[in-house]
Amino acid sequence: MNKHHTVIIAGGGASGLFLAGLLGKDALVIEKNGRPGRKLLLTGGGSCNYTHDLPPQEMVRHYYDRRAFVTPALYSLTSECIIEHFSSRGLDSVIREDGKVFPSTLRASDVLDILMKDVKTIVTGEAVTSAVKDGNIFTVTTDRTTYTSDYLVIATGGLSYPGTGSTGDGYTLAKAFGHRIIPPTAALCQIRIRNTPFSELEGISLEDITISTRGKSFTGPAVFTRTGISGPAAMNLSRYVTETEPVRICFASLSEDKIRNLGGRKKASGAISQLTGLPSRLVSTLAGPAGDKNISDLSKEDTRRIVSAISSYTFTGTTKKESMCATVTQGGVDTGEVDRKSLESRLCPRLYIIGECLDVDGECGGYNLSFAFASAFLAASSIRKS
Ligand SMILES: Cc1cc2nc3c(=O)[nH]c(=O)nc-3n(C[C@H](O)[C@H](O)[C@H](O)COP(=O)(O)OP(=O)(O)OC[C@H]3O[C@@H](n4cnc5c(N)ncnc54)[C@H](O)[C@@H]3O)c2cc1C
Repeated sequence: MNKHHTVIIAGGGASGLFLAGLLGKDALVIEKNGRPGRKLLLTGGGSCNYTHDLPPQEMVRHYYDRRAFVTPALYSLTSECIIEHFSSRGLDSVIREDGKVFPSTLRASDVLDILMKDVKTIVTGEAVTSAVKDGNIFTVTTDRTTYTSDYLVIATGGLSYPGTGSTGDGYTLAKAFGHRIIPPTAALCQIRIRNTPFSELEGISLEDITISTRGKSFTGPAVFTRTGISGPAAMNLSRYVTETEPVRICFASLSEDKIRNLGGRKKASGAISQLTGLPSRLVSTLAGPAGDKNISDLSKEDTRRIVSAISSYTFTGTTKKESMCATVTQGGVDTGEVDRKSLESRLCPRLYIIGECLDVDGECGGYNLSFAFASAFLAASSIRKS
């Protein structure tokens, strides 16, 4: 049996390390990888989009139906506070035109270094395998030894990119305390298109599409992949995709009249590509053989089909195979059983659950790391108060 600790934090990722930095010597982080923060190093393509330049009242709109739950956390640690946190420790930020905030060095490793500087006690290469509470004391068992603590924080992340250590262990730990787990599924991932006609267009990006399913809709950039469509607009929608409901893409708004007005002997796909600003290879794929005809030779049916393919392309999508390589996990510990003002479990006093292990997921743009940090901040305030 090891020394008793005030707080044990299971998981040394974004949320766990941020929390440990705030609590200082009172906290022990137990991280299962040999090195902490492995997922953090992958974020933003290695440059770490750690928050979004928005006031909290607008930030909260980017967490789908968890807006109410994330509100206290995002008001207590705003994106301005996150930027200040890093800049006061010597790491300035850059804000991109689209509002995404990165470290000025564009290196995720610099963000990790800053977090690690504030962490006082950490053990690595040790996985928490179970935890129980007896009276006011938690006994935390790892694959090597046993620890005790007054508080336990589950910060083990979600289920995607298991190679980084996020293998869903937190769900098992939380379940043992009676928590309900909302089934985890992929979010912020590509949408596979059944029998995609676009595989030859892999890597071609589009500035502004609108993609929708089941009454939800996102507008923004997208990129074709070998098997489907990705990029911010598609990724933001991905959590809603089911194999039974159609997905629609408006590549550009177009009408039959607009095509007819192009007139003359121009080849249809080239003329429509010029009119809409869409890549000609995409227009050719969408228009099919009719794209090779001159505008004046298009039948009424050709024109109708082209308009429909460009302004309301409909397909069956799936994200079923993406759970391992999704950016985040949708689902996790039921937020109804966690106090949104402290992140303390409603079922077990002094047990806290933070970050992606909770059933909270945000859109692309720095929202998921913002919640990881903000939920850690709220838990730290609550632990310090009590
Ligand atoms: C490729 C990629 C790019 C991303 N880019 C961005 C981005 O630019 N901006 C953004 O906001 N979000 C981004 N995200 C999402 C973001 O990284 C996560 O939402 C965030 O890291 C969640 O933080 P966390 O602390 O909850 O979990 P994690 O960062 O996943 O940390 C959990 C930690 O717990 C450890 N652990 C798990 N089980 C145990 C156990 N049993 N015992 C001990 N330790 C354990 C893991 O090893 C891991 O280190 C990205 C994700 C991916 C995969």
